[in-house]
Amino acid sequence: MKNTDGDMFGMFDVAVIGGGVMGCATALHLARGGMRVALVERGGLCTEASGRNAGTLTPMFPAPFLVPYAQRGMEMWQTAPEWLGRGIGYQARGGLELAFTEAEVAGLESEMGERAQAGAPIQIMDIDEARRIEPSVSAAAQRAAYCPIDGFVESNAGGRAFRAALLGDGVTVLDRTQVRSIERRAGGFTVGTAAGDLNAGRVVLAAGAWIPKMAAWLGLDLPITVRIHQMVVTERLAPLLRVVVRIFGRGSFKQAVNGSMLLGTVLHWISDADREADEIDRVALIRRMTWAARNGCEAIPALAGARLLRTWTGLEAYAPDNLPVIGPLPGMDDAFIIGCQRSGFTCGPFMGQLLADLILGRQPELPIAHPVFDPRRLLAMRPDETSAAARALS
Ligand SMILES: Cc1cc2nc3c(=O)[nH]c(=O)nc-3n(C[C@H](O)[C@H](O)[C@H](O)COP(=O)(O)OP(=O)(O)OC[C@H]3O[C@@H](n4cnc5c(N)ncnc54)[C@H](O)[C@@H]3O)c2cc1C
Repeated sequence: MKNTDGDMFGMFDVAVIGGGVMGCATALHLARGGMRVALVERGGLCTEASGRNAGTLTPMFPAPFLVPYAQRGMEMWQTAPEWLGRGIGYQARGGLELAFTEAEVAGLESEMGERAQAGAPIQIMDIDEARRIEPSVSAAAQRAAYCPIDGFVESNAGGRAFRAALLGDGVTVLDRTQVRSIERRAGGFTVGTAAGDLNAGRVVLAAGAWIPKMAAWLGLDLPITVRIHQMVVTERLAPLLRVVVRIFGRGSFKQAVNGSMLLGTVLHWISDADREADEIDRVALIRRMTWAARNGCEAIPALAGARLLRTWTGLEAYAPDNLPVIGPLPGMDDAFIIGCQRSGFTCGPFMGQLLADLILGRQPELPIAHPVFDPRRLLAMRPDETSAAARALS
């Protein structure tokens, strides 16, 4: 497999490690900018968080500073046939966030008010108005926020779409290929993979929940932690719900095009992203499945009696301040990181484009070399702050 220089394929300009939405989008835009790119993914493209997520597209989730980034990501999913070559089932539906308790009302009004100020078209309303938009939601909710531009996509279709686009733009896609090491060498890095070594002038760490492990290979101990999210799907139901519904801080509910209802919720924090090392607690899985179903029925009473078919989990990485980590690794100008983005599927295509612009030396459409994203800020943080900050938001 190796040529006479000891390289598998010769020298790449960039090796992107991790083929989720962040890695795929970065690799695609780097290749379109003229770079020779390898994308290395240990499984299939977009089969971890990027293929297991709820597919909700909304500016109601990310921090206020990120609202314009989320809106650009949403536009990119809507126009995917133009830049990705095919769409992944985009549905424009609008989104309603409900609050039942006093604490939820206070949280909803404050968080959604901030996002509205940041430019998201969010209206806070009483429940009668919300029920005129979506009659299936419960009259017992006290307050609601509505965002007419929300929608969803079928995230599990993203990998195939990216694969075709990446190959079409000349990216060397090494899927089913685990990266085992990254070592600095003259002029760049040697990436040790299960299929042999490859050499690249720069590396981009886009390995989602596994980023800390890779940063450690480069001598950095990053205070990034991991949380399990859980999805539950019901049997197919008659048309019941048009918009995407959420209960503030508790979970999301949407009816897929085939009639199934998708219920999303958060499970718990784990210390190690490797499932072998930290097996998922089945009692917690069932407890959360029940909790998701109970929340679903509270938000949409007609869901009572629907049968649950399946449940699955996915892992998300969090920085201590719950903000994305995008840019050069501390002390390096040729190794980059992209991850820890709340609502990362919504923003992913755009954030990948921005990181590619940074690496290509182009003027980005929105700021990306910004303190909010700067990985160096993590050096002053501790991982235990992560849980506290992000728990407060979950
Ligand atoms: C259940 C769930 C629901 C969610 N719902 C939503 C939602 O509705 N809307 C939204 O916007 N966001 C949602 N998110 C968040 C969103 O899915 C993530 O923010 C986003 O997909 C993260 O993308 P990523 O590319 O950073 O990580 P990932 O998609 O996890 O990609 C990282 C990749 O790195 C690979 N990798 C790891 N180690 C190695 C190695 N050693 N060698 C090679 N490859 C490696 C992994 O296999 C993986 O494919 C949800 C997340 C989950 C888990």
